[in-house]
Amino acid sequence: MSNLPNCPKCNSQYTYEDGHLFVCPECAHEWSLTAEEEHAEEQRMIKDANGNVLNDGDTVSVIKDLKVKGSSSVIKIGTKVKNIRLIEGDHDIDCKIDGFGAMQLKSEFVKKI
Ligand SMILES: [Zn+2]
Repeated sequence: MSNLPNCPKCNSQYTYEDGHLFVCPECAHEWSLTAEEEHAEEQRMIKDANGNVLNDGDTVSVIKDLKVKGSSSVIKIGTKVKNIRLIEGDHDIDCKIDGFGAMQLKSEFVKKI
């Protein structure tokens, strides 16, 4: 069990797990990592090409010509996309584009306006 943390009090490496607690046999200190685990649970953030965080309802502009799957249409660079919705997945933006209809884009190919 090499992945147990050292005792935060005396830095002993002979700690052991007892339920949801860690226990140090040398100084009898007991502690829990729950707080740190919650902290580590990072909220997933979707960022545009410039690293700005995107939110539902944002307006973005396309930064490169994007081919539309299954058609010969191309969404031109500079196309404005209003009222985006963030979704899970490879394409993480759900939106409607005038003249194209419902569309899914990758956040790396847009920038926030
Ligand atoms: Zn200790």
